[in-house]
Amino acid sequence: MESVLEHRYSFLTPPPPVAESDITETVEVDIVVAGAGLAGLVAALRASELGASVAVLEKTKSWNVRGGHISAVNSRLWREAGVVNDKKEFVRQWIALCGNRAREEIVWLYANNSEEAINWLLDHSEAHGNTPRLGAPRYVGPTYTEMYGALLFKIQNTGRHLYEDAVKLGARYYFETPAKQLEKENGRVVAVIGKGPNGYIRFRAKKGVILATGDIHGDKEMLAAYCPIFLKVKNSQYTPVGANTGDGHKMGLWAGGMMEDKPLPTIMHPQGYNRLQSFFLFVNTRGERFMNEDTWCQAKSLNVLKQPGNVDYAFAIMDADWREQLIQGMPYSGGLFNDNSLSVYGEPFTGEREQGFLEMGLKNGTVQQADTIEELAEKIGVPPHRLRETVDTYNEMVEKKDDTQFGKRAELLFPIKKPPFYASKFGPAMLAVVGGLITDTRLRVLDKEYRPIPGLYAAGNVAGGLYGVDYPTLIPGNSHGRALTWGYLAARFAIEDGEEA
Ligand SMILES: Cc1cc2nc3c(=O)[nH]c(=O)nc-3n(C[C@H](O)[C@H](O)[C@H](O)COP(=O)(O)OP(=O)(O)OC[C@H]3O[C@@H](n4cnc5c(N)ncnc54)[C@H](O)[C@@H]3O)c2cc1C
Repeated sequence: MESVLEHRYSFLTPPPPVAESDITETVEVDIVVAGAGLAGLVAALRASELGASVAVLEKTKSWNVRGGHISAVNSRLWREAGVVNDKKEFVRQWIALCGNRAREEIVWLYANNSEEAINWLLDHSEAHGNTPRLGAPRYVGPTYTEMYGALLFKIQNTGRHLYEDAVKLGARYYFETPAKQLEKENGRVVAVIGKGPNGYIRFRAKKGVILATGDIHGDKEMLAAYCPIFLKVKNSQYTPVGANTGDGHKMGLWAGGMMEDKPLPTIMHPQGYNRLQSFFLFVNTRGERFMNEDTWCQAKSLNVLKQPGNVDYAFAIMDADWREQLIQGMPYSGGLFNDNSLSVYGEPFTGEREQGFLEMGLKNGTVQQADTIEELAEKIGVPPHRLRETVDTYNEMVEKKDDTQFGKRAELLFPIKKPPFYASKFGPAMLAVVGGLITDTRLRVLDKEYRPIPGLYAAGNVAGGLYGVDYPTLIPGNSHGRALTWGYLAARFAIEDGEEA
């Protein structure tokens, strides 16, 4: 919720309305979608299928998708493979992982609707010959075990056919036309003003406006306001670079909406610098161990950011047998960025991609190799005597199969004795901020009195409530899963509510 101090942030002040004389064109449709990422693409196609006329405003030259995993709590394909998740168990674990800060009704909205949404996507994908594979990554820790449910899509194909299918049904896409402002009449959001290449366009929405403009990570002031930890992360892997500046969040706030409590949750996976790190010994720039490496991907990123030296990286230390150790330990760990993240259910883990990460790292300097620990320390700029001590202490605990320092499971303790030794530099990459405007379970943006703002919906990363302090990978691919499910639902909700209005 807004703090009294937030008046100092410039983005909270709405811009002056665009002068009537500057509006060069008016487009009138049932549904206006702002943003053509996954949430917007899905919303546009679904609304078109349901018989609505649709206009989509997109800031960049094209629609945009990235990554690969899309998940749902259950799906047709996973059921065929014999895997069915218990929704109640999923929700219970999710809420605990989110520190009780997720909105429970929103978590249930996801649990109850993600299967229908992904089956709908599967129907479309299969019609285009794009059948996803079952994604294998899931972390299997002693107290926290992830669930199967990720589907590995050729996601650029997915983006293309969502776009083309919608266009076939009459949806009109306006590229290089950022949404700038919302217009309200009698409390209802009735239009979006977009700035096209030839001037301002008024997009009137008879039934509803769906904000799907992605996250806030491209606006440093918004990051400072809502999630300052992201300002520490130097690597961003978001595409399109610079496009996501929280425009939907801002327009929602100007229309009377409110943000969920901060700090907002972030996706930051250990894919900055080199991806090779897994469960090996981690040391900071002082050569000190700082965590139990036997954990899931977000935890590693967050712990690296707590280290001294104002850096956003640490080092994974390995010996010559690292690849065999990785294969041996994988059944006890797993999960995104413990293995290579692209592994497929039922296929054996070979460490081949990790070998590629190592070789690439040796070429680009993110992996160093040496015949002694001291020489390795010199190469990565940490005090040699300290790294020697850390490795010796670690080896003693490996021998006793008892990590008295940080409690790593014995199955993941491997000696660091056989040269050559390797140090892989790893750290978090900024993927997305997954928090935003508070909505109800019809994805209507709520005002400060928790009343829906008529005509205004939030989908994907514009919407808040699903996550809490963190981004759980309980089923990897759930950020896409949320974008898909929210886009799918928002289209129907906006049409139904618009018909009643
Ligand atoms: C490298 C990488 C890999 C990832 N892999 C995965 C994965 O495998 N699984 C997963 O679940 N998540 C993954 N994510 C996260 C995921 O991609 C996003 O969280 C998710 O796609 C968000 O979808 P969205 O539709 O809300 O936003 P986006 O996909 O960011 O789309 C927002 C769109 O709105 C446009 N836009 C912005 N402002 C305006 C405006 N004012 N007017 C009009 N248009 C505007 C943008 O140009 C963009 O096209 C990954 C992220 C990265 C960076």
